[in-house]
Amino acid sequence: MIPVAEAIRIVSEKAEPLTAERVPLDEALGRVLAEEVFADTDLPPFDRAQMDGYAVRSADLQETPARLRVVGEAAAGSGWRGTLQAGEAVRIMTGAPLPAGADSVQQVEVTREEEGGAFILIERATEPGQFFVPRASEIREGERVLEAGEEINAARMAVLASFGYAEVPVRRRPRVAVLATGTELVQVAERPGEDQIRDSNSYSLAAYACLAGAVVERLPFAGDDPDLLRREIEGAAGRADVLVLSGGVSMGRYDFTKAALHALGAEVFFERVALRPGKPTVFARLPGGALVFGLPGNPVSVSVTFNLFARTALRAMQGVPAPAPFEETAVLSRPAKGAAERASYLPAALSTDPEGRLLAEPLKWGGSSDFVAFARADALAVVPAGVKVVEAGSVVKVVRLPG
Ligand code: AMP
Ligand code: MG
Repeated sequence: MIPVAEAIRIVSEKAEPLTAERVPLDEALGRVLAEEVFADTDLPPFDRAQMDGYAVRSADLQETPARLRVVGEAAAGSGWRGTLQAGEAVRIMTGAPLPAGADSVQQVEVTREEEGGAFILIERATEPGQFFVPRASEIREGERVLEAGEEINAARMAVLASFGYAEVPVRRRPRVAVLATGTELVQVAERPGEDQIRDSNSYSLAAYACLAGAVVERLPFAGDDPDLLRREIEGAAGRADVLVLSGGVSMGRYDFTKAALHALGAEVFFERVALRPGKPTVFARLPGGALVFGLPGNPVSVSVTFNLFARTALRAMQGVPAPAPFEETAVLSRPAKGAAERASYLPAALSTDPEGRLLAEPLKWGGSSDFVAFARADALAVVPAGVKVVEAGSVVKVVRLPG
């Protein structure tokens, strides 16, 4: 049995970054940058007015009100090409380039038009630099603005768009095949007969894989048939970068996953983790290179182990620099029980108290099969191995669940 942290380390090490590809900007949301992103222009690209008003020379406004001749207009997208002389003003709109010769903008609210707009009376003086954003004050052309390994979110879409990235260099999405084992399983649309249950794991697994950036295929059920299981794994290994199997990794008579992996010549990196729930988790690599996660079939175990291990692999494959689950701390609002030899990752609901501290409330649940209780969890609260109970008010590590 290896500690959780060691298992996560092994996964990060074995999961290698996939190749890069270029995708249209429209399809880049949620992808991970494969290269650094550089500014191809200054930002702003010109001295840009921040207010609607008048571009002026502050020297002309030493005595106010000052009467200036309006010599032109500068709007966003069409600047005024002349050079402002003493005693002159240019009507200017937000986003327009500041005309040459002007050193400031006065807002329209403190001005009054005269003679049908031919002159403007400005009631308040300006400081040089007032109400415009100087060229390149935000970004200089050639500067690095995003790093390889950063995930493209909505705000970063704007950065990419601004600097002309019509196509974006990203890591290829990992292809994940999800395979549910278990003779007891029936499809969602069916009504389970006696001794049967609906397959829920392949849906939660596919969803988590999708949230981790993967392209997901759900394979037909493998039952508990060792030959079928082996054939399905072999077939999927040709198409997928990662196989995620649910069930069949325990010590029962019909648990064939490990046997199938051995028969296929897989290299097994670990098969027992000091984790509750999720001890019999298997991590292996098939001869063709596909990584395999054999996850214990209990629906909560599947979710916990996927998010600790398989998600780490999928993020590492996309070149995320810190792919392991991000740990925060929270104050337990109810006591939580631990286990002698294994770290417990317990479903918990997060909230904040009036002082702004993060609280984790361990959910009342019926154990690792209770996926209905688990559906209310935001996070997993960690009780270290060997700790019998963590009292309410103690600080624990928490790992947020995605989505
Ligand atoms: P196993 O890991 O195969 O021993 O399965 C452990 C428990 O999880 C059993 O009660 C199974 O019926 C249940 N289980 C296995 N696979 C699934 C699945 N795909 N969806 C829901 N429950 C499952
Ligand atoms: Mg089973």
